[in-house]
Amino acid sequence: MARILIKNGRIFDGERFFYGDILTDGDKIVKIEDTLFDSADYVYDALGKTVSAGLIDIHAHLRGISSETFGIQGEISCFPFGVTAAADAGGGRGDKALLDTFMLKSVVFVEVGIKSNRAVFENLEKRLDCYGDRAVGLKVYFDTGVSEVHDTSPLRCVCDYAHSRGLRVMVHSSNSPVGMDELIETLDKGDILTHAFHGGKNNASEDGFECLIRARERGVVIDAGFAGHVHTDFDVLKEAIRRGALPDTVGTDITRYSAYTRGGRYGMTMCMNLARAVGMDEENVFKAVTSTPAKALGKESEWGYLRVGRAADIAVFDYTDESFMLTDKAGNSVRSTEGYRCVLTVSDGQVVYRC
Ligand SMILES: [Zn+2]
Repeated sequence: MARILIKNGRIFDGERFFYGDILTDGDKIVKIEDTLFDSADYVYDALGKTVSAGLIDIHAHLRGISSETFGIQGEISCFPFGVTAAADAGGGRGDKALLDTFMLKSVVFVEVGIKSNRAVFENLEKRLDCYGDRAVGLKVYFDTGVSEVHDTSPLRCVCDYAHSRGLRVMVHSSNSPVGMDELIETLDKGDILTHAFHGGKNNASEDGFECLIRARERGVVIDAGFAGHVHTDFDVLKEAIRRGALPDTVGTDITRYSAYTRGGRYGMTMCMNLARAVGMDEENVFKAVTSTPAKALGKESEWGYLRVGRAADIAVFDYTDESFMLTDKAGNSVRSTEGYRCVLTVSDGQVVYRC
């Protein structure tokens, strides 16, 4: 494995921005300093670019793990956007051995169905076992369009089951049968609410976003789970950000439907550009795709930070004429003529994407 020297970049290390050089050797980061003169097999001049810890997508659907209809080819839909690690948010197929064959780093939320307003725990133990230590939580569709759910009682059961096993719960909140405040009250610290800025009935604007602000105070993780225009209302999102109810994490909810049909190449950079376009500041955007999802997934000792001695997972971004236009279900559009574009992705010290 080669030594890679990334020079002159504006570095985001998971916590803050500063200027400097980064040297990798083998699969590790070996130096981060103001200026490095070391020899390397590959030198990348990142002048004018942002050099970040490899991004983490807290809400993705991976081929072979999520349902056949949703799953994307992990590396093809992640590396070109700077994503080096992803959480599958709907695990039910495949196993740990399959995930071990991916270069993309991964964890899994195992899906629990709801039928007749009851959580279905049948075979769950077995499904959790097949993912081993990659299973970090359970995923529930608290969505009347997908699950036979009427109130929070099945969600409470899933939370009890998960927490007693040291797992977290990720809840899909779009088309919820109850108000967002009631839904969030069911969750505990460390649980994840995804599609937090959906529109329609029972959305977060109904109590002036107090539910989201309280959730963040209690340590419930607010995930954008943008899904392009599907599970996000841009007016709700804008107003939430204006009132300080920011997403903690920016997940893509990328599926094979969204990958190439959402106003351009859909992936993490488009989600970051959308977040910027509706008023989220740069530091919060980068935290929401690096250190915060790392913590939320219990992976903060491995992912989400640029540190000497850690795995060399690095993504470099241009800020350029990367335009997009998205229109939500309510007809609100967000367009931008500029944004981040990934120009280099390094995973475990190997260049896996370059443009
Ligand atoms: Zn999803």
